Amino acid sequence: MTAPDDTSDVDRSTDVGLRMASIADKVAGPAAADVDEQARFPMETIDALRAEGLLAALVPTEFGGPGATIAEVSQGLIALGRRCASSAMVVAMHHSQVACLVRHGHNEVLRGYLRELVEHQYLLASATTEVGTGGDVRSSVCALDLSDGRFSLEKEAPVISYGLEADAVMVTARRTADSPASDQVLVLCRPPELELDQIGEWNALGFRGTCSTGFVLRATGDASAVLDDPYSDISTRTMLPVAHLLWSSVWLGIATDAVDLARKFVQAEARRRPGMTPTAALRLADVTAVHQQFVDSVRSSIARFEEADGDIDRLTSIGFAVAMNSLKVTASNLVVDIVRECMLICGLASYRLDSPYSMGRHLRDAMGASLMVNNDRIMTNNGQLLLVHRGE
Ligand SMILES: Cc1cc2nc3c(=O)[nH]c(=O)nc-3n(C[C@H](O)[C@H](O)[C@H](O)COP(=O)(O)OP(=O)(O)OC[C@H]3O[C@@H](n4cnc5c(N)ncnc54)[C@H](O)[C@@H]3O)c2cc1C
Repeated sequence: MTAPDDTSDVDRSTDVGLRMASIADKVAGPAAADVDEQARFPMETIDALRAEGLLAALVPTEFGGPGATIAEVSQGLIALGRRCASSAMVVAMHHSQVACLVRHGHNEVLRGYLRELVEHQYLLASATTEVGTGGDVRSSVCALDLSDGRFSLEKEAPVISYGLEADAVMVTARRTADSPASDQVLVLCRPPELELDQIGEWNALGFRGTCSTGFVLRATGDASAVLDDPYSDISTRTMLPVAHLLWSSVWLGIATDAVDLARKFVQAEARRRPGMTPTAALRLADVTAVHQQFVDSVRSSIARFEEADGDIDRLTSIGFAVAMNSLKVTASNLVVDIVRECMLICGLASYRLDSPYSMGRHLRDAMGASLMVNNDRIMTNNGQLLLVHRGE
């Protein structure tokens, strides 16, 4: 797991997924039950990733990072999702923010910040959801106040996952107080010019370790902390597709672990009664086929993103947006379907909280997937896009 001291001639980008998987097995898995029970931040996992330089996985080599691909990070997230979905979701949300910074923060100050992120292994959080707009992340109530090259901002954010543990928060806001709700920018807000006043606690059904409490966020800073591209471009070209790909990888991890448990259960049944095929073997075959579709769907969506990358026309096309939205909705439904089927296979052993086949956490975490930007909102959006879509 430890990287060699002399890394000058080592291509570190090739093993990001494997190194994340090792941390998943050795650190995240053993802590998962406690993280879930206490609804506490998975500090040991984030510390382990930090020690390995993996919080900067997506930072290109020119800024000192390993320059990993989305496919590599996705592999690592599947592994983490199998062991501790809360840890995996924190890491997925962080990498989505890093991707926005890498691809849309062009000015020298933000470029400098990327180098700092590699050096200090900063953890980035996100504040897009806002009181007053609900889950409509493409509109903001709060606005930047810009004067003399400085900005100030106040946002009522009902959910900022791991806000208290983050080294910076990427915040959406209207460009100016006179701008319409949809004319948004994305701002990098960091201490000591960032204040978070916590509102309430996070005592949720699942993803308990994401510590997604609400905050009143107040920030000031140099105007260069505003990402150069408008948020409409950032959202279409990076935030939305990358978030959907990485979240889906986490959910695939949950589903994969459920299928692993179901397979072990059926194999144990078969050993108990040699010569007889357990009834549940047929259901296992069915759920394995659905799981395979899930795997293929995530893989082909990543390939679609990587093929389109660099081609602005493709990244901003209606077909691409519909495909990335569809992945999110499909993945968030499949994870629940697969966990439910696996519970039927394992029966009471999966329903008990004290059994090696327990799927309580799988089910609770899986239920959050369709709410993280509500599937109905996403499908309403797709419905509108399809009214004017002319096909691929
Ligand atoms: C584990 C977890 C972590 C999260 N972390 C963060 C984070 O770090 N930062 C962040 O900013 N946010 C975060 N969120 C928030 C998340 O992304 C959603 O935006 C938020 O959960 C939406 O809240 P809601 O369900 O109350 O609102 P809504 O999305 O508004 O849903 C409420 C209702 O409105 C309905 N609805 C659907 N379409 C529309 C429409 N077009 N107009 C009006 N209503 C509609 C929905 O069907 C639903 O019935 C997180 C959420 C979860 C579950």
